[in-house]
Amino acid sequence: MISFNKPVYLEDSSRYMREAALAGYISGDGKFTKLCSQELKKITGAEHVNLTTSGSTSLDMAAILCGLKEGDEVILPSFTFSSTANAVVLTGATPVFTDIRPDTMNIDENLIEDAITDKTKAIFPVHYAGVACEMDRIMEIAKAHDLKVVEDAAQCVMSTYKGTPLGTIGDFGCISFHETKNLTMGEGGALIIKDRQDVYKAEILREKGTDRSRFFRGEIDKYSWVDKGGSYLPSDLNAAYLYPQLLSVAEITADRVASFEHYFEALSPLADKELIELPVIPEGCVHNGHIFYIKLKDLQQRTSFIAHMKSKQIGAVFHYVPLHSAAAGIKYGRFHGEDRFTTRESERLVRLPMYFGLTESDRQLIIDEIYKFFE
Ligand SMILES: *Cc1c(COP(=O)(O)O)cnc(C)c1O
Repeated sequence: MISFNKPVYLEDSSRYMREAALAGYISGDGKFTKLCSQELKKITGAEHVNLTTSGSTSLDMAAILCGLKEGDEVILPSFTFSSTANAVVLTGATPVFTDIRPDTMNIDENLIEDAITDKTKAIFPVHYAGVACEMDRIMEIAKAHDLKVVEDAAQCVMSTYKGTPLGTIGDFGCISFHETKNLTMGEGGALIIKDRQDVYKAEILREKGTDRSRFFRGEIDKYSWVDKGGSYLPSDLNAAYLYPQLLSVAEITADRVASFEHYFEALSPLADKELIELPVIPEGCVHNGHIFYIKLKDLQQRTSFIAHMKSKQIGAVFHYVPLHSAAAGIKYGRFHGEDRFTTRESERLVRLPMYFGLTESDRQLIIDEIYKFFE
């Protein structure tokens, strides 16, 4: 049995979690949360990073910090996880979905401007599989139309665009540490903030609407309820779980990228025969081996492919059902322009097993089964 995913677990996590428990800092913003934020700053080069309870709540915070409200519109791809659109909908704003590029499955930067109206307030690009969107063009459009940019960088730790870490290019970057991501704390995430003015607002939002962060830093002598807020701090136990992974991020990433490259090379002959399509990594993009997918002919072939792999006890999975065709997408959003690629390409895509520690022999077994499927 080769499972699709295995969450990262390093032995040091147990030691650090025990340390946090015995020291009695198991709620938010303890020692390990601070250590994780420090490491994340080193990894991303960002000045302001907050650990959060998930990639989803990072997106929720970003949407609130953008000041989104009812009547506003946000442009995003339809090929993404529900969380990207939920963050918009929870503020009362309307998600406006546009089509993707078939090569990277990312938002087509050339279709964004046409979707802009006088209600548009932000663009939420999603870097699918840790491969960057065309950020130069997106930032140029945002600047010209005075729009905020929230990068859904949920899948992107260690990925870069023209040398810049993903999540640090827009106004906000949202990272996930869900158990399915390259680094994990079970449930958790991080919010990267560009503008210093948003940092104080984010602190309050994250700490139940209070200025408790300033109090803890000794800047004020009591704290109180000062604005709208929620509780977006993860337990320090989760941060303790994550911390050693941040210290080993280069090794974890290299292992995944090696798996990606092995798959890519071994399956290239099938791509040459036009039986499958392989992922495209545009020039200037460095990815982190988050996802390895192949594209088959159509939905029918993909269904039999997944069944074939399942019969050999190999976990191959697909995603996403395009948001504009999902019940909530129909209710809350709209698709702008023509759906040339979103539905068609999403129906052809299948992800192969990918996790830290996937062995070469398991990869070979998977590759052999793919060849057998096409015989
Ligand atoms: C995983 C993911 C999220 C949500 O992250 P959680 O930590 O699970 O809340 C959002 N967007 C994308 C693109 C993701 O892959």
